[in-house]
Amino acid sequence: MLSEFDLIKRYLARHSILDRRIALGIGDDCALLNPSPGMQLAISSDMLVSGRHFFPDADPYTLGHKCLAVNLSDLAAMGAAPLAFTLALSLPEANPDWLAEFSRGLLALADEHGCHLIGGDTTKGPLNICITIFGELPPGTALRRDAAKVGDDIWVSGTLGDARLALAGYWNEVRLSTSEHQLAATRMHKPIPHIALGMALRGIAHAALDISDGLAGDLGHILEKSSVGATLFVDRLPAGPVLHKQSQDLRRQFTLNGGDDYELCFTAPASRRQDVQTAAAQASTTVTHIGHIVAGAGLRLLDEQGQTVFLQYKSFDHFAHP
Ligand code: ADP
Ligand code: MG
Repeated sequence: MLSEFDLIKRYLARHSILDRRIALGIGDDCALLNPSPGMQLAISSDMLVSGRHFFPDADPYTLGHKCLAVNLSDLAAMGAAPLAFTLALSLPEANPDWLAEFSRGLLALADEHGCHLIGGDTTKGPLNICITIFGELPPGTALRRDAAKVGDDIWVSGTLGDARLALAGYWNEVRLSTSEHQLAATRMHKPIPHIALGMALRGIAHAALDISDGLAGDLGHILEKSSVGATLFVDRLPAGPVLHKQSQDLRRQFTLNGGDDYELCFTAPASRRQDVQTAAAQASTTVTHIGHIVAGAGLRLLDEQGQTVFLQYKSFDHFAHP
């Protein structure tokens, strides 16, 4: 039988962390952090619940990746650099095979970003994974949701909608070939947090967030917090390579409303277009200019002829779903 302490020692704790900002890691009552001098801490938590955010039989390696990826994505959306994270785990059983794969996926992504596991809690119960992540950034440089200005361009990184299309494949809403479904499913299960882009956009972008529940709904948070409205060109929204081959109607629906893509949506002054492109190139990502921030409230959708498009937009709400 694997005890709680064996489990932590064997799968999660590292012998030494070579980062001067981590004064004390796993093993005491608290971890101790020394953020870089003069830096502000950025802190965020995300909980993933079995049967709600992932299938109960989800591949443990990819699950480990995804749990940390969604938290890193929140740091990216703020323009913060990763520092450390804690992991609260509720597990139905201590299954060594599952734990080995889960920790391998989790720690591989952690290493890629120099983000150290410094503590957590472990208990028996329904599978539930909660990560709290700590990042740092110079004071006053965070990309906040309340910072969009009238006249800003609206941008999105990468492509949208393939994660939602994968879900449509699982639900038989859309018929996809096996290879198409696999490609789309990678977007759903293995999101890539845009840390480098978020950091490169400091001092250039005004507002930013990561798209977890769908572009329209998530952009709505920026609009509300910044007391502004927006115009979006629906047919400029960059569809993922699999969604790209679907009908215009599906492309519009899934780029606008599809969740789980973890791209960044941000606003920046029109005078900074070249700087935005340079930041994206530095971060090896693409960015697409998709609309404008306007005075007033609400989101207006336009086609390429400038005609208003009437589309339902609704982001995912956990309490609206049984
Ligand atoms: P306490 O009883 O003081 O809460 P625990 O016995 O829960 O401490 O944990 C012992 C040590 O192991 C602590 O440093 C804690 O942060 C760490 N720890 C517990 N669970 C995890 C986990 N899932 N991941 C990383 N560290 C963990
Ligand atoms: Mg504890």
